[in-house]
Amino acid sequence: MEKKAVRNLRLCTKDCLCLYVCPTGATDTENSIIDVSRCVGCGDCAAACPSGAISMVPAVYPEQQEKKEEVCFALNALIEAKAEEEMTAASLARKTEKVGLRRLMKAVTVSARLSGEDLAREAGYMLPQGSPALALLKALRDNPPSDDFPLNETNRIIEAFKGE
Ligand code: SF4
Ligand code: SF4
Repeated sequence: MEKKAVRNLRLCTKDCLCLYVCPTGATDTENSIIDVSRCVGCGDCAAACPSGAISMVPAVYPEQQEKKEEVCFALNALIEAKAEEEMTAASLARKTEKVGLRRLMKAVTVSARLSGEDLAREAGYMLPQGSPALALLKALRDNPPSDDFPLNETNRIIEAFKGE
């Protein structure tokens, strides 16, 4: 598979080893972004970088796989399990008087929320929280883009936003 080098500027400590090893000069750019048009994908820069700032990534990404119904169904079941886990942990954190247990349950609460959000993103159902998303939903509800637009579900999500 053909690869290209990319540099994570936040990790780069500017010691410039990649500039010395690159056979094409692709790492030596004005803006610090590796010039993919000159990169031949040898990987020497990534191997030389002491900060792990360079990764080799596919030059062409495969097409996104179809999200099959049974996969989404399984993901949704997992999301619900994570939501229950979050609520249980939050409830325990509120009720306990033990400091250690409260801290642990708060950590579990955050972890369950993050896992649930990751799963939702994978399932293709992630909706950013905030006023722009709410405004978009209301606009879609008021002017549905098609006859089969899921109005009931949209209204349910809008209601859930109000409960936040
Ligand atoms: S070798 Fe790594 S740390 Fe050094 S300049 Fe290149 S990317 Fe940055
Ligand atoms: S992969 Fe090779 S050609 Fe590409 S930037 Fe790194 S050293 Fe240069």
